[in-house]
Amino acid sequence: MELLPVIKKKNSPITIAGPCSAETEEQLQQTCFQLAASGKVDVLRAGIWKPRTRPGHFEGVGEIGLNWLQQIKKEVNLPITVEVANSKHVEQALKYGVDILWIGARTTTNPFSIQEIADALRGVQIPILVKNSPSPDLGLWIGAIERFYKSGLQQIGAIHRGFSSYQKSTYRNTPLWEIPIELKKELPEIQLFCDPSHIGGNRDLIAPVSQYAYELNFDGLMIESHQNPDEAWSDARQQITPERLVELLSHLVIPRKELSRQKEQITLELLRENINRIDDVLLELLMSRMEVSKEIGIFKRQNNLSILQQDRWINILESRIKTGKHLGLSELFLKKYLEALHQESIHHQHNVSIETLFI
Ligand code: PEP
Ligand code: MN
Repeated sequence: MELLPVIKKKNSPITIAGPCSAETEEQLQQTCFQLAASGKVDVLRAGIWKPRTRPGHFEGVGEIGLNWLQQIKKEVNLPITVEVANSKHVEQALKYGVDILWIGARTTTNPFSIQEIADALRGVQIPILVKNSPSPDLGLWIGAIERFYKSGLQQIGAIHRGFSSYQKSTYRNTPLWEIPIELKKELPEIQLFCDPSHIGGNRDLIAPVSQYAYELNFDGLMIESHQNPDEAWSDARQQITPERLVELLSHLVIPRKELSRQKEQITLELLRENINRIDDVLLELLMSRMEVSKEIGIFKRQNNLSILQQDRWINILESRIKTGKHLGLSELFLKKYLEALHQESIHHQHNVSIETLFI
């Protein structure tokens, strides 16, 4: 795929901001005028049709909101973006001169909807941003991007808005940063945005999540802003006033992607050498551990014992997590690491066991 940038801007990250939903003309004007006047916002956003998980909530003002946005755009001269979820939305958004379309998380989940939108866009040149699906499935995210590309669009970007999880967590939608990193590996030229509002679900998390995204070289942010966040008709807890948004942006540090001075390069290389050496030792140690696993595998085969010994596994998990946490490692990492280690160990035990059986 030969993708082009959705928004052209040199040297500093892009900011897309605006309310979760367009509610009234006054609310939209006040918020957007303030955001535009700050000079810190590159694109204005507002939800016109709102995909609510359960019925009985505010589902957006519809077409009238596009009219309000069109008037605002004339006054402030900033591009506007809205979410589209079907071909009718596309038709209306185009009629009112929307500059950039975005695809919501729930829509990315459904290839039928994506195809319907892609078909409606055939022959139209408009930039589009695709949010990830709520399930941690990179295929759905890339699949949606491919469908738009096949229908002739080239200005396609991605928005990382986190992933749903049944378990309660600090985040409304867990970031699982490895997924957008993988997306960037598959599509290096794609412009990638972070939506800290929907990841955090809470005002206090917007700054740390945004900084994290900058550290990972994201191209920009999409942040929900409302002139009176507590009274917002949707996503009240995660919206911030335009003033707060400007303050927050001024506190974020924009890291450089490349090393410049030679001294920096030397220091970093020395530290990286240390990491490389430690990784080598770790790998050797892991293999020594697997050698012992193999011996255990042979022993279990000879004594006809099953490989999985539940009590021992639970004991390993609990004791190593305790030690690891004490050393300063996170529980989430320790769990993932121990599970992977256990699987690999079972795999080695099974292989030697099979060899002994069939020779
Ligand atoms: C939104 O941006 O307001 C929205 C509905 O987001 P998502 O599709 O990420 O849930
Ligand atoms: Mn929202």
